[in-house]
Amino acid sequence: MQLYSKQKISLYNSLSKSKELFIPINEGSIGMYVCGPTVYSNVHMGNCRTFLSFDLVFRYLKHLGYKVRYVRNITDAGHLENDDDTGDDKIAQKARLENIEPMEVAQRYTVDFHDTMSKFNALSPSIEPTATGHIIEQIEIVEKIISEGYGYEKNGSVYFDVKKFNEDHEYGKLSGRKLEDMITNTRELAAQSEKKNPQDFALWKKAEPKHIMKWSSPWSEGFPGWHLECTAMSTKYLGKEFDIHGGGMDLKFPHHECEIAQAEATNKKSPVHYWMHANMLTLNGKKMSKSTGNNILPSELFSGENDILSKAFPATVAKFFMFQAHYRSILDFSDGALVASEKGYHKMMDSYRSLSSIEAGKESSFDVAAWRQSCYNAMNDDFNSPILIAQLFEATKFINTLKEGKSNITKSDLVLLKTTMHGFIFDVLGLVDVASVGSSNDEKLSVTIELLIELRNQARASKDFSTSDRIRDELQEKGIQLKDGKDGTTFSLI
Ligand code: AMP
Ligand code: ZN
Repeated sequence: MQLYSKQKISLYNSLSKSKELFIPINEGSIGMYVCGPTVYSNVHMGNCRTFLSFDLVFRYLKHLGYKVRYVRNITDAGHLENDDDTGDDKIAQKARLENIEPMEVAQRYTVDFHDTMSKFNALSPSIEPTATGHIIEQIEIVEKIISEGYGYEKNGSVYFDVKKFNEDHEYGKLSGRKLEDMITNTRELAAQSEKKNPQDFALWKKAEPKHIMKWSSPWSEGFPGWHLECTAMSTKYLGKEFDIHGGGMDLKFPHHECEIAQAEATNKKSPVHYWMHANMLTLNGKKMSKSTGNNILPSELFSGENDILSKAFPATVAKFFMFQAHYRSILDFSDGALVASEKGYHKMMDSYRSLSSIEAGKESSFDVAAWRQSCYNAMNDDFNSPILIAQLFEATKFINTLKEGKSNITKSDLVLLKTTMHGFIFDVLGLVDVASVGSSNDEKLSVTIELLIELRNQARASKDFSTSDRIRDELQEKGIQLKDGKDGTTFSLI
């Protein structure tokens, strides 16, 4: 099924600041890199929004039949507290605080991240490389940047010479910042630093004695600058030029700007054809953030244990809520909005489920093929999930009229309607049907207990009381109580 040749995607490129027709470098194959989490604490709902936005992109491209290599890294070293290359490594700081190894910190929060992503039914990336696993590649890039004349060493640290780079390249083209303006705004700070200019950024930093995460290099025992890992890993797995690079809007500057500079200085070409930036999830109108504490954790959402929540919400409902906004729009998280999304989600799922009991007729009163293309058009227009969901609600309206006997559908249209809804709800949006998951597990549980009750009755009938008592006692231990009455045995969960 080579659908991709028919569907034309236009996507908003943050570099050109316009929507462009998406043309992959190699027909049929796509390389996509997304900056992953810094694993020093649990991911919050804001982080999840960005990763789910790119899961949607990944799912849609795969749905169209593209072969996608999706690389999403794990930042387990090099990300310092402050964007100006000062402060402690975030992971090492946490390790010191908790008196554990930095790799224990990284492991704990990588596990949390994976667990959370699977609760949201996000697909795993094709490659998930770590910064610490690519120190050699990062050192090689620093060497290349120095040899090209864009990097300089000072006291065992190496910095990228932004001013020099800007002489024959354009530093700031992604974020729209001008180097001259940056220089004017930061003049006073210049004297205190090892940097030639405050805009220069670290490629390698010499470790201070207390710094625990360090590696040997030609310049010092130290560690790589944060921006370097993404250049190293994207080049290694996707090549010097690749199709899509994504991340949250807040990474545009300095992180992605520096990635472009590093790659251009090393490879003499612009690394990324389409830059995509997902917008922020806010709480009380302010960006959700780890450092300010203005955030909601996925575990709080699933349990309802946060003062702003009136109840617990399933992961899939939160995902539906997020996809009701376009990935480039700011979205404010609130209990009221989630409650409204939950209603909408159930309406859509109930309607999808009810399709199995619809009888086909001789003609259709709804143009299913045109509607189907509208669903594709929505996603082709810069992955516009809210418009897609609006289209799914159009189908829901029609299904309701079918149920009321007010309209008709042919057999082939019914199949098309069902497969299209299935494809977009489950494959593209990656939602799950909580009702069917819940009821099927409950059903399985009661069938199993009924079977045990029957075996216990047989044991009693043949006077095998040790077996019958064992069944009753062990079920009791597991929280399932059997009650013998005159109409037989019933059970309850305790
Ligand atoms: P970090 O672990 O801080 O490096 O962030 C991981 C990802 O989450 C990055 O792509 C950030 O841009 C993104 N992110 C951080 N805060 C938010 C937020 N409030 N809303 C959406 N994405 C966010
Ligand atoms: Zn990155």
